[in-house]
Amino acid sequence: QPVVGVLALQGDVREHLAALEKCGVEARAIRRAEELDELDGIVIPGGESTTISRLLETFELLEPLRAKIAAGLPAYGSCAGMILLADKVLDGRADQHQLGGLDVVVRRNAFGRQIDSFETFLDVRGVGPVHTVFIRAPWVESVGAAVEVLATVPESPEAGDAAGRIVAVRQGNVLATAFHPELTGDERVHRLFVDMVRGVTGSEEK
Ligand code: GLN
Repeated sequence: QPVVGVLALQGDVREHLAALEKCGVEARAIRRAEELDELDGIVIPGGESTTISRLLETFELLEPLRAKIAAGLPAYGSCAGMILLADKVLDGRADQHQLGGLDVVVRRNAFGRQIDSFETFLDVRGVGPVHTVFIRAPWVESVGAAVEVLATVPESPEAGDAAGRIVAVRQGNVLATAFHPELTGDERVHRLFVDMVRGVTGSEEK
């Protein structure tokens, strides 16, 4: 079975490990560069992107992980993970590092104070209607030509100005959501990622 890592420097690592296990892969917490070599995919969890960015440097994982993703290692980022996978970030800290891989511009803490955190149902392409949890989430401000938009915020009184904003994207082997499917006990988004991983690894024989 495929081996999928969860970057375990900070954030909701345990929730991602549990969701991945439900999808029938071997899920591993990753803290060292050597551990990357055994992976068929990696998840960058939700948390605090500035903290994760700093720890990526401290743990000497920034360059190795960036190189792996650039070379095609399937990656999925939720919330802070989405921020780290974006090629460009607005409202980030000046010293914040990007892993990159997604040709998108992401705005950190985009939903602002009024709807700091909220839950809604939205349609995720290839998955269906999903109960989504947003926590000081980013949104995708703009996407490059190779990026597929998988979900936008639907109109609702709660969504306000956020309606229509892009909150899930895929580009090749990289998937990202502004929300946290790992917190809802619904592992369909993780299944979508695992299907991407299996596509690369050649499913059955692993
Ligand atoms: N606001 C956080 C950041 O900028 C992300 C929040 C989250 O992952 N729930 O990194």
